[in-house]
Amino acid sequence: MISKEMLRLGTAKSVIRELFSYGLQRAQEIGPENVLDFSLGNPSVPAPKIVQDTMIDIIKNNDPMVYHGYSSSQGHNGCRKAIAENLNKRFNTGYSLNDLFMTCGAAASLNIVFKALTASSDDEIVVLAPYFPEYKVFIEGQGAKMKLVPARNDMKLNLDGIKEAVNKNTKALLINSPNNPSGVVYTKEEIKKLTDYLKEKEKELGNVIYLIADEPYRELVFSGEPVPFIPHYYDDTIICYSWSKSLSLPGERIGYVLVNNKCNENEVVMAAVGGAARALGYVCAPTLFQLVIEKCVNIEPDLTVYKKNRDILYSGLIEMGYNVAKPDGAFYLFIEAPNGDPELFSEKAKAYDMLVVPGTGFGSKTHVRLSYCVDTEKCEKALPIFEKLIKEFK
Ligand code: PLP
Repeated sequence: MISKEMLRLGTAKSVIRELFSYGLQRAQEIGPENVLDFSLGNPSVPAPKIVQDTMIDIIKNNDPMVYHGYSSSQGHNGCRKAIAENLNKRFNTGYSLNDLFMTCGAAASLNIVFKALTASSDDEIVVLAPYFPEYKVFIEGQGAKMKLVPARNDMKLNLDGIKEAVNKNTKALLINSPNNPSGVVYTKEEIKKLTDYLKEKEKELGNVIYLIADEPYRELVFSGEPVPFIPHYYDDTIICYSWSKSLSLPGERIGYVLVNNKCNENEVVMAAVGGAARALGYVCAPTLFQLVIEKCVNIEPDLTVYKKNRDILYSGLIEMGYNVAKPDGAFYLFIEAPNGDPELFSEKAKAYDMLVVPGTGFGSKTHVRLSYCVDTEKCEKALPIFEKLIKEFK
């Protein structure tokens, strides 16, 4: 007998993957230039050339036993030290390598943190809709419950909803800014209000409530305003980070968990992070890429294409009368389906060979997600289709 739950997960349909496969099939039939595939969040800007140069340099000038070998479970000292120094310079913090655990991307970071924090099946992790669909799989997979806070219409942080959701079983609140799927970035004021509330609630309940910040899109912001650094507002913060999006390295599986050094019992939490990584078999993140990150940690992403695509689509859609949350970061737009039915809207768009994902899997019954990590030409070609669609529905 095998696990029914794992069988269910392994055979469940993924709308995003199905749309993506459909797009590949249509590309063979009508040519890739004619399929406007906005389904996947795979970066379209190549990794900066210095990343490849660094890889080549490491391979040419180092012992293969080092770059192909295991690192320590938590990661190479040099890599963790370089990351700590980078964070200290940017955010005026006092981190050391001991505050960091290297992982195989943000997905591994999240699983590790959920496992490290979950002590009982009553434990709840509060998640804000709209959300990255894998959160539910990860949280439940690590034995906790996901408590969902509904989205506000403008996709901003729903503090009233959070207040209703937090209770004595709340282990952590998970936030993701810049957000997938909405592109929304929470402001300093929103973070301040949230963390003031969490501090009060920790006192009232006599429990630690961790704030988990899932930040693979931290550097992808267009407003010039940096994304608020959560540990400045709240001590009990744990950050899950990866270079999948910022350096366009999703296939290299490299990221980290940062346990804030002012977090309650931070050394104990870090030890549990190590234990969770061990139990999951997620120790020793890819060595070659730890060595690459050590050298490339200060490289900033080139946002030119994403910003151009965002501007073309956002202003075009707003002008046509679409309701779109203001996307200051990441590479997604969350668009309200003009007929209120995201499945039907996605189907109709598909008939024009334009692929957008219904928001249902992201916890929305009203919106579709568009990933604009594509060639700019495709964003330009999409506008007349959106125009036709809004006219069809009105
Ligand atoms: N969190 C969010 C919000 C994401 O959008 C993604 C990937 O798309 C992940 C985590 C997982 O990222 P990684 O590739 O680093 O595992």
